[in-house]
Amino acid sequence: MFPRIDKEACIDCCECVNVCPGLVFSHTEEGVKVTHPQECIECRACEDACPTGALTLIEE
Ligand code: SF4
Ligand code: SF4
Repeated sequence: MFPRIDKEACIDCCECVNVCPGLVFSHTEEGVKVTHPQECIECRACEDACPTGALTLIEE
């Protein structure tokens, strides 16, 4: 599994970037993106940390 960001709901707060132990997310000029999905260890910390519910883990 890996995280998907709903760009409509994302407010670019970077909570997911800060909490992820696997460096899955990156803060880019276009906002926070999932740049290394293969590094996800499915801990779900990002889902818990996201204040807007923009993050969901999905099957590959
Ligand atoms: S589930 Fe865990 S490892 Fe995977 S992206 Fe979220 S915080 Fe990172
Ligand atoms: S924690 Fe949620 S709202 Fe914040 S940058 Fe990540 S996906 Fe966007």
